[in-house]
Amino acid sequence: MGKIIDGKALSALVKDEVRDAIPELEARCGRKPCLVVIIVGENPASQVYVRNKVKAAAYTGMDSRLIELPAETPESDLLGRIAELNADPAVDGILVQLPLPGHIDEEKVIDAIDPAKDVDGFHPANVAGLWLGKDCLVPCTPAGIMRLIDSTGTELKGKQAVVVGRSNIVGKPVAKLLLDRHATVTIAHSRTADLGAVTRQADVLVVAVGRAGLVTGDMVKPGAVVIDVGMNRNAEGRLCGDVDFASAEPVAGAITPVPGGVGPMTIAMLMQNTLRCFRKREGI
Ligand code: NAP
Repeated sequence: MGKIIDGKALSALVKDEVRDAIPELEARCGRKPCLVVIIVGENPASQVYVRNKVKAAAYTGMDSRLIELPAETPESDLLGRIAELNADPAVDGILVQLPLPGHIDEEKVIDAIDPAKDVDGFHPANVAGLWLGKDCLVPCTPAGIMRLIDSTGTELKGKQAVVVGRSNIVGKPVAKLLLDRHATVTIAHSRTADLGAVTRQADVLVVAVGRAGLVTGDMVKPGAVVIDVGMNRNAEGRLCGDVDFASAEPVAGAITPVPGGVGPMTIAMLMQNTLRCFRKREGI
């Protein structure tokens, strides 16, 4: 049987690292790290995500603010809020929950966030930093995936890594992080011919597609580390991943469950990114 990677336990560890660091930082700087989360509209899934983010911030002891704006908020008002938060010295991290209502240009909003406070790591300056190998803020989900892989003790150097999905928020950045660790990386996507033939090469397989059960056990190399990023609802409304856990788990060397794998790590890495912004802004 494969070893199940406990993302909940690992995320608790990361949040505790952040929590334990804060008292000393506060004593030294006279203030705590502060995360501001903005939500526009009433998308139920987004409301759950932002609540969990604010709850995690409270757990670590950092300051946090939740700004809830009505769905009809004009783009210019949102940009105005971001400008205020950029200029506020007490604010270290700004996160605008996506997706935004259709009348708001997401790209414009991401571009408006000060890259030094961009805890999601989506600003073009941080994206460029990642690809150029510079010191930058790394998106939370890919950073969490790397930490999950590392928790298995896997040496990535020289290994075959396959990432299924090429989105800007997961697939592409995680591929770059794996490349930085000297894995040989293949990125598969919707036009990949014979996906199973590709995934069966993977010592480390990261699946970020958004299709329940896309990857089945026969598509997994025996002993592989399998990271399931997908968050889908099955016919009964239960949360499930992109990997068919029942058939993949016996084949894999280690595998993340859904829920309880990547999801909690994303939030933990957000806390870590906020701390990182604080340290950088304070010059420590
Ligand atoms: P996305 O932007 O929709 O991208 C999906 C990717 O999957 C695309 O690159 C697409 O290929 C590829 N794809 C679609 N069908 C495919 C197929 N049949 N075979 C191979 N590749 C296929 O999705 P995303 O934002 O990266 O999110 C992916 C999943 O992760 C979603 O379920 C999302 O909810 C979840 N997610 C979870 C977290 C977390 O914290 N747990 C965070 C972010 C995302 P093309 O480029 O060719 O269209």
